[in-house]
Amino acid sequence: MKQRALLSTMLTALVTTGLLAGCAAEPKPTQGGKEPTVANVRNQVVNVYSARNYPVDERLYAQFTKQTGIRVNVLKGNAEELIERLKREGQSSPADLFVTVDAGVLNNAREHGVLQPLAATAIAQNVPWRFRDKEDYWVGLATRARVIAYAKARVRPDQLATYEDLASERWQGKVLVPSSTSLYNQSLVASLIQVDGEQAATAWVQGIVRNMSRKPEGGDRDQVRAIAAGAGDVALINTYYYGQMLHARDQEEVKAAQQVGIIFPNQQTTGTHVNISGVGLTKAAKNKANAIKLIEFLTAPDAQALIAQENGEFPVNPKAEQPELLKSWGAFKAQQIDFAQLGADNKQALEILTAAQWQ
Ligand code: FE
Repeated sequence: MKQRALLSTMLTALVTTGLLAGCAAEPKPTQGGKEPTVANVRNQVVNVYSARNYPVDERLYAQFTKQTGIRVNVLKGNAEELIERLKREGQSSPADLFVTVDAGVLNNAREHGVLQPLAATAIAQNVPWRFRDKEDYWVGLATRARVIAYAKARVRPDQLATYEDLASERWQGKVLVPSSTSLYNQSLVASLIQVDGEQAATAWVQGIVRNMSRKPEGGDRDQVRAIAAGAGDVALINTYYYGQMLHARDQEEVKAAQQVGIIFPNQQTTGTHVNISGVGLTKAAKNKANAIKLIEFLTAPDAQALIAQENGEFPVNPKAEQPELLKSWGAFKAQQIDFAQLGADNKQALEILTAAQWQ
């Protein structure tokens, strides 16, 4: 996810360029019970409001259109703004699907009443129950782990094993983090509230603030670059950004990532924080069948393999082929949390971050 400002600009740009024009049009009904013709399949659409901003998604939407003839219109934006928009538009919303990167946000969308259950056998077969909402209001598309990145030249991986270690005195002046506006940090703290309790989560946040090597800035990739530049020794990042940098065309990115190693924290204790990126069917969906077809496509092994290959996320479909990098990380113990609770605990997480002056 990029900065909110950029996403807002993109959202405006898409609206003004009319990419969503004609979205609300119903697909033409087939006449006299005949099979759909190529012509009326071409009139079919599915409209997506997406807070995911990864090139692999565009590739998959294009593949879906090629395969089915169904056009995919995408409006990108900040997740919160998109949920507000869905609420405002109500039943007249052109959106069929809401896509975002955080299980807490998916649950918020459900709580705000903008989604409806999507019971579809194929989706249930593609995605194990633990990556789906209990009542099918949303389904995972991929997962990501929030791990510790370290400077290979200055840190031995056996010097730290847990999130808690990062808050200890040893790492004073060495820790790099994005700002508290990062949803990824907010959800990590929300997960710690769930796993360790509010007190421990608060103490952890205070410890990280104490240990920061600089004012929080930039996204996860920037933390990797900062480690390579010597601005700090350890950082919290999502796995796929590291993978993307290792495979980047820009050799500077590759060089930076090569100086960094990653550790899956809390393997002997509470497990590594894993979050879900997923999709929900909107309550106002007018192209329901097409929307479900798109989710079936995105969760099938081929699309899942491409998400893993191109974006470095973990597939939710266990049948998907994993790229070498992900395989090389091997199996790891994931934090056992109630994903729905992440959204509920977000406010408290933000309060803890703000109170500790995590900027
Ligand atoms: Fe991201």
